[in-house]
Amino acid sequence: MSKVLIIGAGGVGGVVTHKCAQASDVFTHITLASRTLEKCKKIQQSVKELRGVDIDVATLDADDVEATTQYLKDLKPVLVINVALPYQDLPLMDACLAAGIDYMDTANYEPRDEAKFEYKWQWAYQDRYKDANLMALMGSGFDPGVTNVFCAYAQKHHFDEIHYVDIVDCNAGDHGKAFATNFNPEINLREVTQRGKYWEDGKWVETDPLEISQTFDFPEVGDRKAYLLYHEELESLVLHLKGLKRIRFWMTFGEEYIKHMTVLANVGMTRIDEVDYKGTKVVPMEFLKCLLPDPGSLAEGYKGKTSIGCIIEGMKDGKKKKIFIYNVCDHEECYREVRSQAVSYTTGVPAMIGAMMMLQKKWDQKGVVHMEQMDPDPFLEQLAKYGLPWHVKELPVD
Ligand code: NDP
Repeated sequence: MSKVLIIGAGGVGGVVTHKCAQASDVFTHITLASRTLEKCKKIQQSVKELRGVDIDVATLDADDVEATTQYLKDLKPVLVINVALPYQDLPLMDACLAAGIDYMDTANYEPRDEAKFEYKWQWAYQDRYKDANLMALMGSGFDPGVTNVFCAYAQKHHFDEIHYVDIVDCNAGDHGKAFATNFNPEINLREVTQRGKYWEDGKWVETDPLEISQTFDFPEVGDRKAYLLYHEELESLVLHLKGLKRIRFWMTFGEEYIKHMTVLANVGMTRIDEVDYKGTKVVPMEFLKCLLPDPGSLAEGYKGKTSIGCIIEGMKDGKKKKIFIYNVCDHEECYREVRSQAVSYTTGVPAMIGAMMMLQKKWDQKGVVHMEQMDPDPFLEQLAKYGLPWHVKELPVD
């Protein structure tokens, strides 16, 4: 009997819950807990209607470590799947340690008052998790997540040495809104408005936000302009890929998105510090989040595809080699299957597969662990089976 607790009933939480219910031989008992019970109940009803599976729901404030610890001790799940927000990572890691339960998430911890996207806070738990004989799996979404596993797969099966990696993320979908973000608006805008950064020849190189762009030919989408961003998986991949000379992350944005974001940033609406408004402290970014569409609400009528993968170049048997490992996901198909859009879907499916790897002990390493440190083969086998088929294409070497 494998009892799991999913925390967070947003766009991603909905998909993870549906996907765990699809694999009910592995996840024999599912509880979904979040701050707002109504959102949990909506997902509970949808899982019952579409899958015929009963799940439990509960209200939980994951920022309250003491109450969460007690809840975990009473419920006794074998794993906590954290798909709340990055702010909840540390309180949940503390509660899991105190209750003796394995942990996983899809995004690294961020303090509310600075957008840094660094693993240092979670790496600080390494010894405590090892000593407690517990596993904490970092970033089991798509990017981070599947992109890390694609790199591990390339290292295991395709290369003796990996020299260059470009992680390329394209959402060529259309939700019909003038401006909306595909996952939590606050986290998304913090990520995009921060300074860019990539790693080359052993050091980090900083850029202005969206300073560097390049056109890539995305499978099943075609040519799209993508912008260089800093993304958290770069930090762990530089430690775990052999022979690496450069790694960068690129994401596409439409003209309309960039226009809106530039104006919002210029007028101060993306600030994450407090401002005084008529005697009330307001964080502009948090206020902006309240005005923007809920990412989950974009799902109905969303058309088009996401195309995300890793372009990897290196050496095999003394010769240069270049490959593109990628997945293409269709927004409308995701809606038909789990009532979500493809960005939540491509995050929620790998979260479920990561959890499955841990429950089945196919991934079993104590301490704080990154996806690329684990065997990629069983993960990728299940990923294709549960809705995210992936492909390897040989590219000409420059
Ligand atoms: P949403 O904002 O849609 O959902 C977040 C959920 O967490 C909400 O239900 C929210 O509750 C709940 N929550 C927030 N604070 C607490 C708390 N203190 N206690 C309990 N529950 C809380 O976000 P998404 O579903 O879009 O994203 C979820 C996570 O997935 C984020 O961390 C995001 O960064 C990550 N992500 C990762 C990706 C990847 O590829 N690795 C890609 C996309 C997202 P309430 O409704 O009450 O606010």
